[in-house]
Amino acid sequence: MKLAQRVGRIQPSPTMAMAARAKALAAQGIDVIDFGVGEPDFDTPDPIKDAAIAAIKAGFTKYTPPSGTDELKQAIIRRLETDQGLRYQPNEVVVSCGAKHTLYNLAQALFEHGDEVLIPAPYWVSYPDQVLLNDAGPVIITTRVEDGFILDPRQFESAITPRTKALILNSPSNPTGAGYTRGQLEPIAEVALRHRVIVISDEIYGQIVYDGFRHISIASLSPEMKALTVVVDGVSKSYAMTGWRIGYAAGPAPLMTAVANIQSQSTSNPASISQKAAVAALNGPRASIERMVAEFASRRNEMVRRLSAMPGVSCFQPQGAFYAFPNVGSLYGRRHNGTVIAGSQSLANYLLEEARIAVVAGAAFGDDRHIRLSYATSLDKIRKGLDRMEAALAKLK
Ligand code: PMP
Ligand code: GLU
Repeated sequence: MKLAQRVGRIQPSPTMAMAARAKALAAQGIDVIDFGVGEPDFDTPDPIKDAAIAAIKAGFTKYTPPSGTDELKQAIIRRLETDQGLRYQPNEVVVSCGAKHTLYNLAQALFEHGDEVLIPAPYWVSYPDQVLLNDAGPVIITTRVEDGFILDPRQFESAITPRTKALILNSPSNPTGAGYTRGQLEPIAEVALRHRVIVISDEIYGQIVYDGFRHISIASLSPEMKALTVVVDGVSKSYAMTGWRIGYAAGPAPLMTAVANIQSQSTSNPASISQKAAVAALNGPRASIERMVAEFASRRNEMVRRLSAMPGVSCFQPQGAFYAFPNVGSLYGRRHNGTVIAGSQSLANYLLEEARIAVVAGAAFGDDRHIRLSYATSLDKIRKGLDRMEAALAKLK
């Protein structure tokens, strides 16, 4: 069977692949500690579940408008106004089946052959592949740990060509946890405006921030910047709702109409029941988010402290999200029982085999000198897993 060329350009999501590997080992009774997938270990809060149960009981089980229910759009609009001072109309908002689907729809609506899409590295695994699936070319801009993994506006500007269509910005970032301050966003916005580069601003970790860091949306900097930005967010991370599949975007009406049309011809609408649950999440009290973030903060502290104390490992202090992204490059070339650690993937394989911990290779995020560990797991597992990692690294000679 001859498949379309586009599928030859992509690979399965490495984060999802590692999650599947860890689950398969656990199913065989092997005690694997999973630092692989970025998924809160908390259960969805009860009031959100209750809203979904009530929706089923009330027969809210039919198609909804393709771009989402008015009720959910209003809840999204209220959140964007309260959190970021951003004002949108319902025709500027589209709800999709998770932020990943939102990003994919945007790529479909915006990108075509010949377009270049700028992606600062380290990046979330799906950005380049979604660009490739839509016939455009990802252009990777490397950021440096010395700059806090923040995109340098001069580097951004010099990567722009007549073919540049968009920049995909992710703050706080998966995998680094770096968050952009207003002062760091302003010069980036200036460059984007000067060259008319659309900014796809993935803000899915905007509420998971530490030490008083405040998430700022680049769209909130000026009306001109708002008109050039699509804000992407969702309920997966902040409300522990990964399985419900609700993400959304807010941006200029003509683009959002195109996204709604794509959706009406592809998935029709996100699940009616999940939309009711998302309304309860977005309109509900913030106490459950605050509890989860406080717990993530102590896990982050423990994980970063332990990783930084391991010989040959250094770790950036994340301002948001729930990932540690330590530099392990100085371990490359070492070996154990004939296995040579050649790079991040071989280290990830070694840690799975030897320490029974699942981590994702930095190469998947565009930086082979790192590995990613999610701390969306209990402190207990973090301590046990890092003990095992320390012991496994000590065996490398
Ligand atoms: N963006 C980033 C940076 C992510 O880490 C994720 C995690 N899955 C997503 C988007 C998509 O999330 P979801 O599809 O679950 O809403
Ligand atoms: N975004 C999460 C991660 O990076 C979930 C997996 C995925 O959607 O790729 O692990």
